[in-house]
Amino acid sequence: MSATARIRVGGAAPYDVVVGTGVAGELPALLAGARQVAVLHPPPLAGAAALLVSQLSAAGVERPCGIELPDGEGAKTAEVAARCWTELGRREFTRSDAVVGLGGGATTDLAGFVAATWLRGVRVVQVPTTLLGMVDAAVGGKTGINTAQGKNLVGAFYPPTDVLCDLDFLATLPRADLVSGLAEVVKAGFIADPTVLDLIESSPLAAVDPASPALAELVTRAIQVKADVVGEDLTEQGRREHLNYGHTLAHAIEKVERYTWRHGDAVSVGLVFAAELGVLAGRLDPGVARRHRSVLGLLGLPTSYRPDRWPELVEAMRVDKKSRGAALRFVVLDGLARPGVLADPDPAWLRAAYEKVLS
Ligand code: NAD
Repeated sequence: MSATARIRVGGAAPYDVVVGTGVAGELPALLAGARQVAVLHPPPLAGAAALLVSQLSAAGVERPCGIELPDGEGAKTAEVAARCWTELGRREFTRSDAVVGLGGGATTDLAGFVAATWLRGVRVVQVPTTLLGMVDAAVGGKTGINTAQGKNLVGAFYPPTDVLCDLDFLATLPRADLVSGLAEVVKAGFIADPTVLDLIESSPLAAVDPASPALAELVTRAIQVKADVVGEDLTEQGRREHLNYGHTLAHAIEKVERYTWRHGDAVSVGLVFAAELGVLAGRLDPGVARRHRSVLGLLGLPTSYRPDRWPELVEAMRVDKKSRGAALRFVVLDGLARPGVLADPDPAWLRAAYEKVLS
């Protein structure tokens, strides 16, 4: 595989996702025509943001600046968005200026939302720095903030104009965050690209090595899967729902655990649950369900959950669906790379699938 990969995301406003080492260095060339660029970043990325600002300045951007956000989910609030609007207003940001989201998924979600709303939309380039940001949050155009009532309740579908996934950033990412991000990669393998699973099975240690070509290929393949889906269905009217494989239970676990679990860890348990549900519904071969456990286990991801939480999990799943005006629906597999939907499943199957993931 070549050092740098370019993945086209189709749709009304197509854009490229560039994956490779050192690709953040492409940012100044992308934004060379802008007069002002605001690089939104969390505190741990302050050094990287300062470097980008100086490179933008050297490339002729008149007034590049960094805007530091609170770390993690602390960035995804109406107050922080309002603070960014104030800052852009103070700087007289125009439609020909641009926002950059430099950070994990929380940062890119907030940066995308600020860009979507300022002057009804200015250009945003996403530079994700976590594995989850690269393979999921920064690609696909979902942006948003949280409210007191729940996560991601306010937002916009607003695709970026470019995404730069610079693998060098992964070197400083805590190992637990890297491993957690791999759950979305495994999901991509099961719903669309089984080569991902072969790669992990043949070299699980390389998969968790941020400098390995194997991880670069896994990231590229996972982004390709997401790009193929969101390029065709930006607003989740059809195929995009398949990306929710494992997520119905995962969102409930995150809620029940009061968001102290990493997203990918919850998705990992959710994938095993969805596979078992597929088996119980007579749609999936038990061997493929066993493969879920073994691939996720090879990476050190959790495949089981505590035994005493079923009523709360069911309630959380129902509330989540009710808020979307829908019946309980699960994405299940009819085989490797054959995702489909199971609507309103027999409650006994749900309970039985939960029994299969108990620790
Ligand atoms: P995050 O953005 O909170 O980042 C996790 C931590 O890692 C933060 O402390 C961050 O500062 C730090 N960090 C970031 N890059 C680093 C690096 N290179 N080295 C060291 N530390 C670094 O978390 P996340 O897991 O990246 O993203 C989670 C968020 O993404 C959630 O808000 C979730 O809702 C959102 N998300 C959005 C989508 C979407 O489609 N928009 C999809 C999935 C998740």
